[in-house]
Amino acid sequence: ASHEVIHRMTAAKVGDFVLCTFQDLTDRERMDQMRRDFVANVSHELRTPLTSVLGFIETLRGPAREDAAARDRFLAIMQTEAERMVRLVRDLLNLSRVETKERQRPTDRHDVTLLIRSAAHSLRPQAETARVKLDLQGFDQPIEIAVDPDQITQVATNLIENAIKYGGADKVVTARLAVEEGPRRPLLRFAVTDQGEGIESHHLPRLAERFYRVDSHRSREKGGTGLGLAIVKHIAHRHGGKLVIESEIGRGSTFTLLLPMG
Ligand code: ADP
Repeated sequence: ASHEVIHRMTAAKVGDFVLCTFQDLTDRERMDQMRRDFVANVSHELRTPLTSVLGFIETLRGPAREDAAARDRFLAIMQTEAERMVRLVRDLLNLSRVETKERQRPTDRHDVTLLIRSAAHSLRPQAETARVKLDLQGFDQPIEIAVDPDQITQVATNLIENAIKYGGADKVVTARLAVEEGPRRPLLRFAVTDQGEGIESHHLPRLAERFYRVDSHRSREKGGTGLGLAIVKHIAHRHGGKLVIESEIGRGSTFTLLLPMG
C-alpha cells in the first residue's frame, strides 16, 4: 500500500520518475509471482511422495497386513519416495545457501583442477553403473582462482551427474577444463559434453529455472529434483560467471561454466 502512495506521489510530481516507479512495481509483482510459483512447486513436489507413503502405510496396516511379499515391495517404494524427499530438501537448502551468499564474492584462492577432478572421481561408481565412460581433459595442471570450493564441487557434480543420467549407456561423457582469453581478463572454461539425445532448442532458455524439466517422468525416474541447474546458474552468477547450454538433437549437449579469473 505504501508503495502505491509513493508511486502516486511521484507520478504527480516528476514525469521522469513515473517510468522508474512503474518498472519497480512490475519487478516487485514479478518477484511475488515467482515466489508464489516456487512455494506451489515445492508443496507439490513434497506432497506427491508424502501422499504415496501415506497410502502405502494405510495398505500395510489394512489389506496387506499378512502379506509378506507385498510388505517388502511397499517398503521398497516407501524408501524410494523418502529418499526423493531427502534429495529435494537437500537441494532446497543448497539453493537457499547459494542465494544467501549471492552478494559476497569469494576471495580465497583454490585449485579448481583439483576440486573438479575430485568431484568427477566421486562420480566414477555412478558412471560405471550407468555404463558411461568418463573422460577428463585438461586436468593436468593446477589452476588457482578465487572461488567457493564447495560450490565449485557442486557445479562439477551437478553437471557431470546430469551428463551421466541423460547421456545414455555405452556413451562417453567428456569434462574439459581450459583457460582462455576473455574480453578483459582470462576466463576459466569448464565444459561437460554428453552424447545423449540432445535438448530441443526452445527448452534451452528455461532449462536452469527451478523445477523446469524437459521430461518430468524421466527426471523423476532418474532421481532428479529439478533444481540442479538452478543451483549451478546461481553459483555461476555469484562468481561473476555464467552457465552456457548448447545442444544438438541426436548428438548431445554441452553445459559450460565460464568464470572470469583474477
Ligand atoms: P533434474 O534434477 O531434473 O535433472 P536439473 O535442474 O539438473 O534437474 O535439470 C533440469 C532438466 O534439464 C532435466 O530435468 C532434464 O530435462 C534437462 N537436462 C539437464 N541436463 C541434461 C543433459 N545433460 N541432457 C539432456 N537433458 C538434460
